Amino acid sequence: MNDAVSSTAERSCPVCASRTFVHFADERIDESKVSTFTYASRKQPEFMCLRLVRCVDCDLVYAPTPPTQNFLSDSYSEASFDSAKEAIAAAISYSKALVPHIADLSRRTIAVDVGAGSGPLLPLLQNAGFAKVIGIEPSRAAIDAASPDVRPMLREGMFSPEMLESEHPSLLCSFMTLEHIAEPGDFARAVYDLLEPGGKFAVVVHNWRSPLNRILGLRSPIIDVEHLQLFSPKSITALFVEAGFENVSQVAITNAYPIGYWLRLSPLPAKLKALIGGALSRIGLADVQIPLRVGNMMAVGSKPLEMNK
Ligand SMILES: [Zn+2]
Repeated sequence: MNDAVSSTAERSCPVCASRTFVHFADERIDESKVSTFTYASRKQPEFMCLRLVRCVDCDLVYAPTPPTQNFLSDSYSEASFDSAKEAIAAAISYSKALVPHIADLSRRTIAVDVGAGSGPLLPLLQNAGFAKVIGIEPSRAAIDAASPDVRPMLREGMFSPEMLESEHPSLLCSFMTLEHIAEPGDFARAVYDLLEPGGKFAVVVHNWRSPLNRILGLRSPIIDVEHLQLFSPKSITALFVEAGFENVSQVAITNAYPIGYWLRLSPLPAKLKALIGGALSRIGLADVQIPLRVGNMMAVGSKPLEMNK
């Protein structure tokens, strides 16, 4: 990646601020392959990545020289969106995993989804009993793809605390988004400050240490130029604890996606994928939902009810 889009100084670990790291992956960027789909969700894997290192202290894998905030903001705002069907399947998987965490919330005032896409999670949060539901999403194309009943709940832009002035959520979700945020530690602290006492922060992230991702190695779809960091159970827990959250839990979750989508993510050659995909469509199987545990995890933490000071 050239200097215009890349910061010059190496950053310290964006979770624990440590500067002790080991090599994880070399940069692989093919400028000719960068397109408006590069920053879109659930795209065809491109097998491009920034240089990645692993923090020796908290186990986070991160890009020490990520693109600048302006570059990211422009890229996501202009990103294409063509994944409505998969987005709905993902939202259903995540909302199922959220059920026990919502059940023991003391209040259900406001729920916010950061990186909401076309907003498929928002009606599910309404059904879970939240009085007000807000989605925050930088991609204009994703917002344009929202259904008419969901569209009014979406606010356009890269998340910043000012987008929620005087609104203190009982629940803030951010699913498959943390990898894309330049400073996840700052984000977690901002969420902590925003939440009402007793409120919860819930994230879904890729687990780079999951068996499937370890087997695929650098051919895993999680090795991606969009991902500025990759979490493991240890590093996601560190993110929550450093921000002040308590009762932090993390579990592996199951994603149910159409079989055609799993095929798209698979490390098979593109021609073979097209061949199999065409065959699945012709026999009407491309949309059959297959639940798989592919190395995603949900982490949840609570803001203390009372300040302990
Ligand atoms: Zn660290």
